[in-house]
Amino acid sequence: MKHLQSDLWHHLTEEDVFNTINSDRLSGLSHNEVQERLRLFGPNTISGQASISPLKRLLLQFHNPLIYILLFATAVTLFLGEYVDSGVIFGVVLINAAIGFVQESKAEEAINSLKGMLSSTATVLRDGEKQTIPASDVVPGDIVFLASGDKVPADMRIFDCRDLQIDESTLTGESVSATKSRTTLGKETVLADRENMAFAGTLVTYGGGKGVITATGDHTETGKIADMIAQATSIDTPLTRKIHQFSKLLLWVILALAGVTFGVGLLYGLEASETFMAAVALAVAAIPEGLPAVVTITLAIGVQRMAKRNAIIRTLSAVETLGSTTVICSDKTGTLTENQMTVQKIFSGGGDYTVSGTGYQPQGELSTLDGTAFQLSDNLALTHCLRAGLVSNDSKLIEKEKRWTVQGDPTEGSLIACAFKAGLDLKTCENAFPRIDTIPFESDRQYMATLHEDQECNRLYLKGSVEQVMARCKTMMDADGQLQPLNTEIITDHINSFAAAGLRVLAFAMEELPKDETSLDAFNQREPNQALIFLGLQAMIDPPRQEAIHAVATCHKAGINVKMITGDHALTAKAIATKIGIIRDSNSNGQVVLTGKELSEMSDHKLLECAETVSVFARVAPEQKLKLVTALQAKGHVVAMTGDGVNDAPALKQADIGIAMGISGTEVSKEASDMVLTDDNFSSIEAAVEEGRNVFDNLLKFITWILPTNLGQGLVIMVAILFGVTLPVLPVQALWLNMTTAVFLGLMLAFEPKEPGIMQRIPRSPDAPLLSIEIIYRIFSVSTLLLIGAFGLFKWSQSMGASIEESRTLAVTLFVIVQSFFLLNCRSMTQSIFTTPMSSNLWIWGGISAMLISQLLFIYTPLMNTLFQSAPLSLNQWLLMLAYGACVLCLVEVEKAFWRKRTLKTSSECVK
Ligand code: ADP
Ligand code: MG
Repeated sequence: MKHLQSDLWHHLTEEDVFNTINSDRLSGLSHNEVQERLRLFGPNTISGQASISPLKRLLLQFHNPLIYILLFATAVTLFLGEYVDSGVIFGVVLINAAIGFVQESKAEEAINSLKGMLSSTATVLRDGEKQTIPASDVVPGDIVFLASGDKVPADMRIFDCRDLQIDESTLTGESVSATKSRTTLGKETVLADRENMAFAGTLVTYGGGKGVITATGDHTETGKIADMIAQATSIDTPLTRKIHQFSKLLLWVILALAGVTFGVGLLYGLEASETFMAAVALAVAAIPEGLPAVVTITLAIGVQRMAKRNAIIRTLSAVETLGSTTVICSDKTGTLTENQMTVQKIFSGGGDYTVSGTGYQPQGELSTLDGTAFQLSDNLALTHCLRAGLVSNDSKLIEKEKRWTVQGDPTEGSLIACAFKAGLDLKTCENAFPRIDTIPFESDRQYMATLHEDQECNRLYLKGSVEQVMARCKTMMDADGQLQPLNTEIITDHINSFAAAGLRVLAFAMEELPKDETSLDAFNQREPNQALIFLGLQAMIDPPRQEAIHAVATCHKAGINVKMITGDHALTAKAIATKIGIIRDSNSNGQVVLTGKELSEMSDHKLLECAETVSVFARVAPEQKLKLVTALQAKGHVVAMTGDGVNDAPALKQADIGIAMGISGTEVSKEASDMVLTDDNFSSIEAAVEEGRNVFDNLLKFITWILPTNLGQGLVIMVAILFGVTLPVLPVQALWLNMTTAVFLGLMLAFEPKEPGIMQRIPRSPDAPLLSIEIIYRIFSVSTLLLIGAFGLFKWSQSMGASIEESRTLAVTLFVIVQSFFLLNCRSMTQSIFTTPMSSNLWIWGGISAMLISQLLFIYTPLMNTLFQSAPLSLNQWLLMLAYGACVLCLVEVEKAFWRKRTLKTSSECVK
């Protein structure tokens, strides 16, 4: 077959399309044909997804105000003939760019590879069977099923559709979903108007349909413009933006100080070139060169840790926001519960039945409440009720290695298992009552309907929420198949007792339609007119996840509110919420459960209040999730919200952290989310929050650690100028110091494990300033200690007649040693280092060793001595510096102890 280069797929008739592409609409391609075509056309992936080119990213590393200063310093030192200085400064600029480049690429790669884990799937018809395959395996000629929430895997001609609407904004920029149809179109129809085509990468927002693939991979319309839509991963976060602003501010402060230094130097009558070098030294020393790179890498480490705990981060800023989450709004089914459904109770034809057996294996039996034996044929309503559950169903049970699992919706799986237990057979039913039309289940519709051929009539089966089904019935069938008036009272009693036990209840109904009614369009459009016959109820258990119970308790301790938002019945929701601990005090006077109906009748003001106080929202339509998120945010909350359906997308976008379900979620919801749970489990959200808090802690530790290095050096140089003494630290030495300590020492704080009690404090307010009073105090005190140590040592050794090189080496090494000790202090902001296990972060010790080795090279190798004008030191000098470093360590610990006492006192005062 030649390459399918037709631009006229929309213009051909359906028959011509199938002929050209050589496929069959009823059975699809055969296995062999698929293999052949895969070889011929290659996988369905788009190759040209280049993001920012590496060269551009490298150049971007130089686009930073702080680097401008260094480049300027390079130029001027070159001009002054200080070639070594000039070379070293430029060398550092290059190294810095290289480190930044590598780390940014790594961070981006990490996120991108995680994105790869979220690869999408497609449902195709091959060898006459419906199969789910990776989207990359789709070939031209494949018949693909589209359902709302799917991402279109490749370009296709649509040959079957029901209310199919597709969001094509990625391709056409049109934000309103396009409605699809089967009509053959004119030759000149433009892309945006080709309503009989669906294009790769667009999103099905409503309805469903079938299409035959016409182009895959790079040959798709999207593939042709891949470069345009390639989404560059953003590694910007609120914090990195804050740091960028901080850098700009720092630039001006440093320039001003450097200017003053220059002026003062001139005033003292120093040589212009010397004062200039002093100004350069100040600028270079005060710039925290390693800061941006370390922040990015710490965030990236957080991303990896979260991935290990089943939370895939899609935007780097989510890592940060997670730490300050105050409310988690979670789905019930599957997230808080196991989504392992088993039908346990049935009410039908006036009889009550219990069902034995667990899981999806069709072993167990139906029995009446008093245990008397019965024949299915004795109860006609029950037969219909069970059959409705079996055939009005889009899922399948599969047995693999003696284990039965469900392919599709667990709710539906349990209905199949139940019908099997009662002795119904799928093949027999499907042959006797072939399905001719379907209205698939949608969360906001709350029901599914199918139309089947029967002998004398066409039979409609409806299954769904009790509200939706009962609204359509006026009669109910009894055991003998006779119609009785609907006895609302007895049905409601049953529903309430099932729901109060935490069972999920589904209701069933049917209608006999004339033979010539072969479509459900009329049913879909008409108002509920009570023409249906009520058949019965099936109630299933969905046990709460044990981990969720634990995770909810942890969240409560951490000051995080947990809310359940579900489409399920209010009583069921309440029963499960109580079991899981979301409802903490069920006797409280306040309202604990609100339904979607009550929500929609509520004033905006009342809604604001209830969103905050109520913890269970039942029978909620997806649009109402958006309202709840905005209400909570208006109350100042940082909201994490889960969702899986198409209609959840707006709420997921609006939430501070939109969380999609990796297993049961639609592609649309994943695209709209910041985080995807690979196991759909609530406890993974809690884990991610925990990791998010740790990332923020570690960033704060790093910032507390790094700023004294720069402030301390700045002070040393300024004091030296003011006293009119020679510089204790040269520009190149300052660079050495900044670079090596940031990489060998500071970075290691990113690997600090979580501190105990991390989930026992209230969430950090996102508006709170980065640095608290305590931290600022600590930064200044350590900077002062560095100043005293370095300047004192410098002056003292000078007065002892040491060479200027030796004195400077002393000053630089003192910084290294004090910062190594201070690094240990910074492992915890509040806890004593004597109670922090030494071995919990081995990176720290590795880093300190690496730092020591480099510093030895700096001091004792001739090459470094020439490059950095350093000189060998004596053992006594080392001992002196180590002693000083140990003193600083102890002083900081005393300070920490002081703050600990104070917070203890204030908190005990609060209790009083
Ligand atoms: P949840 O938040 O519990 O996942 P859903 O929005 O999925 O709620 O479902 C809402 C209601 O719709 C359920 O309580 C049930 O009555 C009904 N329902 C759920 N799944 C199906 C289905 N596959 N077919 C018909 N009705 C369903
Ligand atoms: Mg559901």
